[in-house]
Amino acid sequence: MTMHEDPMTDELFRQDATLQHCEARVLVADADGIRLDRTVFYPHGGGQAGDTGVLRLADGREIRIADTKKGATPGEIVHLPAADADVSVLTPGLVVTAQIDWQRRHRHMRFHTATHLLCALIPHPVDGCSITADYARLDFHMTEPLDKQAITEGLTRLVAEAHAVRHRWITEAELDANPHLVRSMSVQPPRGLGTVRVMEVDGVDLQPCGGTHVANTAEIGPVIVTKIEKKSAKTRRVVLGFAESA
Ligand SMILES: [Zn+2]
Repeated sequence: MTMHEDPMTDELFRQDATLQHCEARVLVADADGIRLDRTVFYPHGGGQAGDTGVLRLADGREIRIADTKKGATPGEIVHLPAADADVSVLTPGLVVTAQIDWQRRHRHMRFHTATHLLCALIPHPVDGCSITADYARLDFHMTEPLDKQAITEGLTRLVAEAHAVRHRWITEAELDANPHLVRSMSVQPPRGLGTVRVMEVDGVDLQPCGGTHVANTAEIGPVIVTKIEKKSAKTRRVVLGFAESA
């Protein structure tokens, strides 16, 4: 099998979400995007926005990456160049430095971890999720009203309690034997790779998740519920914001 037919990418961000850059080799670069042999760029998925950043050549030239998405096959990651980027310089085999926009990603990580706290505070199935640098929102499949102030206080408490956040891998067979681990109705854990990544907020939440998270809830910082919406008869939407930018 040639590299072109099997553009699998080593997903460094799954083992260490704090990696801001890595050396990587270009596999394919064309109008459809750029595939690397390894990357720190998180591809849009599980509600979390894809990373932006640059691919830096040895001579200092930079190819701006405007978004990152999953490819057609499991494990395939596509770096989407900015409209004005010249990808013709990215010949297969070329070594580049892949560097994400860390400030933006760290906000994704803080919000993403906060959504796990929200799942613990609101024990209903999740049927929608969006995590960006400016807000996070979760849709809960439920009919009961929600108290904005009480949820903000719950989040503030869980952040202040400084719970450790860690991941581990379980087999798909183990997951099938424990279906209660799947909290989300719309976002199923990625399948087909043999193992599933489980995120644990120590003593608070445990569920399959492939996203990026901070290492401790204290790192989330002040987070508040900015809005609660009745999206449909059976859906309550909770929107989070950072207190410092509210
Ligand atoms: Zn997560």
